[in-house]
Amino acid sequence: MRYEGPIYRPPSEADSLLIQATVGCPHNRCTFCMVYKGLKFKVRPTGEIKEDLEEARRQFGDRVRTLFFPAGNTIAMPTAALAEICRYSYSLFPRLQRITVYGSSQYIVRKGLPKMRLLAEAGLKRLHVGIESGDDEILRRVQKGASARDHIQAGRILREAGIEMNAYIMLGLGGRERTLRHARESARVINEARPQWLRLRTFVPKINTPMLEEVLSGRFVMLSPHQVLRETRALLEAIEVPLRVSSDHYTNYLNLAGKLPEDKEALLRTLDEALTWEESSFRPFFIGTQ
Ligand code: SF4
Repeated sequence: MRYEGPIYRPPSEADSLLIQATVGCPHNRCTFCMVYKGLKFKVRPTGEIKEDLEEARRQFGDRVRTLFFPAGNTIAMPTAALAEICRYSYSLFPRLQRITVYGSSQYIVRKGLPKMRLLAEAGLKRLHVGIESGDDEILRRVQKGASARDHIQAGRILREAGIEMNAYIMLGLGGRERTLRHARESARVINEARPQWLRLRTFVPKINTPMLEEVLSGRFVMLSPHQVLRETRALLEAIEVPLRVSSDHYTNYLNLAGKLPEDKEALLRTLDEALTWEESSFRPFFIGTQ
């Protein structure tokens, strides 16, 4: 198997076969993200991707159960090519149960329901979607390239196509100035997009990013651990749709996992308990390098 540039995958894909379908990110402008900077987005030739799948078949036989196609925004690749490599994967790995990619809302909306349905029929089962915030002002400031409306539309398209949405909210992304709005608007978008999973990340400034400069110059004031926990509380409290919550990431201050609505009270109690701890007991500030 051949790989080019950074290969990222969500923690929930730790056991998946990784076969690179695209290089870089076609958007590549989010001000908090350092992952694919300096790399030009490209789609690998279908023949090469198939060769890598065949090599994986020789190495792992029929042990492959889940497959992830990196890199950032593989959903942006031509629909026919993505559908072809999905179908080919199922023909090579008889026990394959799930194929997953990263996909931002703007690319899901651009493809629309008919193309997403075609991908679902080809066996694309799950998308990891960086919503980051439901607040349009925050989305504009971080140059996400998608509005709250796009996120909601993407959620509706995925639900109708039968593809599972794993939505990511980045806690603290609005700084002190917009924390309440960030929580409230993000809950509104989640309530309307209705993802099956809500995955929480906490904003950590990364090297070589515009947001690190904003933090260091004092233009962006980060939340303290308690403020992040309060924001998380406000977000979870306002969610009214059934979903699974997970904070499966090293950036978070607290490990939260459960199902809404049944575990909501327990999750809120966990947050309230953590709010009684000294702020110094949480992880320290750091600048992210990956
Ligand atoms: S956060 Fe996602 S969409 Fe934004 S630049 Fe990074 S990889 Fe691309």
